[in-house]
Amino acid sequence: MTKVKVEHLKKNFGSLEVLKDLNVEVQEGEVVCIIGPSGSGKSTFLRCMNALEEITGGKVIIDDFDLTDPKQDINKVRENIGMVFQNFNLFPHLTVLENITLAPRELKKDSTEAIKNRALELLETVGLSEKANDYPKSLSGGQKQRVAIARALAMNPDIMLFDEPTSALDPEMVGDVLEVMQKLADQGMTMLVVTHEMGFAKEVADRVIFMDGGYIVEEGKPEQLFNHPQHERTKNFLEKIL
Ligand code: ADP
Ligand code: MG
Repeated sequence: MTKVKVEHLKKNFGSLEVLKDLNVEVQEGEVVCIIGPSGSGKSTFLRCMNALEEITGGKVIIDDFDLTDPKQDINKVRENIGMVFQNFNLFPHLTVLENITLAPRELKKDSTEAIKNRALELLETVGLSEKANDYPKSLSGGQKQRVAIARALAMNPDIMLFDEPTSALDPEMVGDVLEVMQKLADQGMTMLVVTHEMGFAKEVADRVIFMDGGYIVEEGKPEQLFNHPQHERTKNFLEKIL
């Protein structure tokens, strides 16, 4: 089943053309890693998936919801899409548990008790049960990011977007976060992951997309893209980072 369909997506900031005719389809349960140089439009692309950016042209369809339809209830669509950012964006004045339960409590779909239990379960999944009542400032970067992942999962999304989730972390913290993401992938979550972690992309991704200059230059299975890149720009990029 197709989860995400992006057709001729364009995004301009004023006269700056940042995304130029992107076409992507993501199937249910697929893990797609997006790589490419800084400024190539990776973050903007992810943000368009979540209607955090207004789209200049083309279509973004998530499940059967057309994000570009002005009549679409964007909040309804967003409930199904979790997003994790480079800098965690936890609420500093809320405890770990409160960070995780805030959005589901506002949604009022489940009882307070059920929401709390689900949050505790998620904390266990990310290995942070003992931090439930702590504040973000007392956590390491890796722990903060795992809380951010648990918070995104608390809405029971069926798609997760990750924007360089490990880029702000000290090297020794990276593994714990990637491990949580790998677990999520193993459970069948549909994931779009912007990352510089080529090891993760090689191991976990079903498909890797290389972006440059607002275009998808090349995409393929990790083995193909990393070992047999077809385009000069892909080769140059991989030479620099591998
Ligand atoms: P990446 O994530 O690949 O590094 P971005 O999507 O962040 O790239 O940025 C792509 C281009 O869009 C850059 O030139 C950046 O300066 C520009 N850009 C991103 N966000 C904005 C914004 N809100 N306003 C103006 N320009 C932006
Ligand atoms: Mg970025």
